[in-house]
Amino acid sequence: MPFSSQHLKAQAQAMGFNLVGITQAVSSPTLDAYYRWIDAGMHGKMGYLAREDRRIRRDDLNNIVDGAQSIVMVGLDYRSRIVPLSLLHDPTRGRIASYAWQLDYHDVIEPRLEDLASWMQAQIGEATSHKVYVDTGAVLERSHAQQAGMGFIGKNTMLIHPRRGSYFFLGEIISTIEFDSYDTPHRETMCGTCTRCLQACPTDAFPEPYVLDARRCISYHTIENKAWIDRELRAGFGNWVYGCDVCQEVCPFQRFSQATDDMSFYPPDDDAVAPHLTTLLTLTNDSFKARYANSPIYRIKRKRLVRNACIAVGNSGDRQFIPYLIQLLYDDEAIVRGHAAWALWQLMGRDALKQLQALYDREDDAEVRAEIEALVP
Ligand code: SF4
Ligand code: SF4
Repeated sequence: MPFSSQHLKAQAQAMGFNLVGITQAVSSPTLDAYYRWIDAGMHGKMGYLAREDRRIRRDDLNNIVDGAQSIVMVGLDYRSRIVPLSLLHDPTRGRIASYAWQLDYHDVIEPRLEDLASWMQAQIGEATSHKVYVDTGAVLERSHAQQAGMGFIGKNTMLIHPRRGSYFFLGEIISTIEFDSYDTPHRETMCGTCTRCLQACPTDAFPEPYVLDARRCISYHTIENKAWIDRELRAGFGNWVYGCDVCQEVCPFQRFSQATDDMSFYPPDDDAVAPHLTTLLTLTNDSFKARYANSPIYRIKRKRLVRNACIAVGNSGDRQFIPYLIQLLYDDEAIVRGHAAWALWQLMGRDALKQLQALYDREDDAEVRAEIEALVP
């Protein structure tokens, strides 16, 4: 017998989820657009997105859960406190995207979704199968959420709820359970003639509305890109060191975003929002682990965070950082040495020649040498 969708939604809300929608477990209507995006290479170095095994699962959800009938989509608000712009735009601090100010959301949402799935199973009292994902599965989450009536996909490619904005996490249960009713898909878009997000993007990452070229996106580069950051993009990063909120924060629908009740996402202090760049430049592997072990930032490891901090320092125009950068020219990680060299050049120009020449002479990493060659004409 089909399960009551109202019963499920009441339980999900009782468990703290702010949005719930249910849609049938059929493939996403935006698959073709997604594959055009992949074929154009806009996924950058996220090669896993193009993998055949993921394609097979994405195209047919039965390859994730055999006999899948339904997708229960949930949303959990993460907007916490309003932070003064003076803190966010302080060039001596590195800015962190607001979803990462506290606990890793996977650790909050996944167990809660498993509890919800177990609850359904217990209610039904017969064997069912399910799979829980929180942005890790081979599924087009935002599209399925739109199909589940939870909002529209904006020109910034985010899922936007017209009365809640887009500061919420998504998660889903793909299940063999059939429901007595399914939600009506949301209108495809409500952006109208607005183009705020497209214009505000600091690195011009939208080649057209609804299409984000990850290869130009600060969020992609600071989090996903393990390699060197394109030199021509670095100035646009400003003081972002982990993610970027710009195309969400300028969206007019964001005025409806709700502060979360979940203290898991409230930053304990200003340093969780925008740590001092000196703190980031002087991180060791141990201090990085101590500071970020429970944060989503942990997955990028110390090397990438310090690389990102070097870019923010290079953009700061603040010469107080020069001694820290000179120290990083001796870092064990080539990518850190190279980005520190770039930042030093931004702050000192030709006055950095002596340090850069010394680094060049002792350097055996080809990419660091190439970085210096590109900097010094
Ligand atoms: Fe542009 Fe930032 Fe949005 Fe990326 S996250 S598309 S860099 S505004
Ligand atoms: Fe749509 Fe405007 Fe929001 Fe961009 S800023 S997603 S165009 S409403």
